[in-house]
This record gives sequence, structure tokens and C-alpha cells, in this order.
Amino acid sequence: MSWRDHAECRGADRELFYPNPGEKGKADQARAICRSCKVRQECLEWAYSVNDQYGILGGFTAGQRNHLRQAS
Ligand code: SF4
Repeated sequence: MSWRDHAECRGADRELFYPNPGEKGKADQARAICRSCKVRQECLEWAYSVNDQYGILGGFTAGQRNHLRQAS
């Protein structure tokens, strides 16, 4: 079993997590789902490992993840 099996976003609309620029409503919905996700840390580490530059993963946009990485 993988951490993905415990993802809160399983079955959710994928477009929420890959919104087009300006689709703040979708991004907000995705972040709300991530907030209650039990595998948020694993997801965040995966996003860094593949250098994802598009999705809302681990509850953060790519820009936020890049900022966090530079700050650590
Ligand atoms: S943190 Fe968000 S994107 Fe990552 S697995 Fe959980 S719900 Fe899905």
C-alpha cells in the first residue's frame, strides 16, 4: 500500500489541483482538501522529488514550495 492510498484527494476533481492561472476558486478548494490530508508530508516530498511546477501538492502551489525550499 502506498501513501497515495490515504490521500484525501482520491476521487476528487484533478482540475482542482492543476488550476489554470487565475482559477483561484479551484486552488482554494484544493488547499482546503489538502489541509485535512494525512499524507500531506509524503505528498510534499514527492512534489519536491519530481520538481513539480504546476500542481497544488502538499497544500502548496509550486511557487510556495519553491519559496519554502529556498527558505530551508
Ligand atoms: S496533500 Fe493534497 S494533493 Fe497531496 S495527497 Fe493530500 S490531498 Fe492530495
